[in-house]
Amino acid sequence: MMVPRSIDEIAHLFDKLPGVGPRAALRYAYWLASQPKNLIRQFADACNLLANQVTACEVCGTWTDNSPCNTCKDPRRDNGMLCVVAVSQDIRPMEEASVFSGKYHVLGGLIDPIEGKTAEHLRVNQLIKRIKDADPVITEVILALDPDVMGDTTALYLTRQLQPLGITISRLARGIPTGAQIEYADEATITDAYINRRNN
Ligand SMILES: [Zn+2]
Repeated sequence: MMVPRSIDEIAHLFDKLPGVGPRAALRYAYWLASQPKNLIRQFADACNLLANQVTACEVCGTWTDNSPCNTCKDPRRDNGMLCVVAVSQDIRPMEEASVFSGKYHVLGGLIDPIEGKTAEHLRVNQLIKRIKDADPVITEVILALDPDVMGDTTALYLTRQLQPLGITISRLARGIPTGAQIEYADEATITDAYINRRNN
C-alpha cells in the first residue's frame, strides 16, 4: 500500500506512543491528515512548546514549565511529609483527593526486571539525599506506588534503603485494587487508601 511520506512520518511517531501499535498509528495519521490545517499546526506548536518548556523539577523531579515547581515552592505545604510516586501523573489523583498536604518526590518509574529497569534508573539517591538534607526534617515518607509486582518490589527496596534514616515509612492501603494504577484511581479510593496507609 502506498502511504504518502507526510502521513508515513507522523504514523511512525504515533507508533512510539505507549499502547499504540502500527495499525492504530496509521489510522491516527490519516485522521490527522483529514483535519483542518489549523488543528494540524496546533499539534506541531504544542509539541514545540513541550520541547522548549518542559523540564524536570530540580527538587521533586516532576515535569514542570518552571523549576522548582509550584508545589515545591508552596510555603503552605507541610515539609515534614514526603509522598513518593512513580511518575508525575500520579500526583494529580493525590491532589484531587485533597488528603495530603506535604511534598512529593517522583521516582521516574518503578523497578521492572523484565524491562531491565533497576533502582539505579530511579531517583532513589536524590530521595535519600533530600531526606538527609531536609530542614525542617522529614518525619514520614508515604509510598504511593501501584499495588502490583513492580510497585511491591520498589516499595520493598525503598523501605530497606530508607529504614536506616529513622523515619516513618508508610504505604497507601489496599483500597486501590491489586493490579490497578494510581493514575486512574478516583478521589474516594485515594482518600481511603491514604487514611488507612500502613507502616511499611
Ligand atoms: Zn517540584
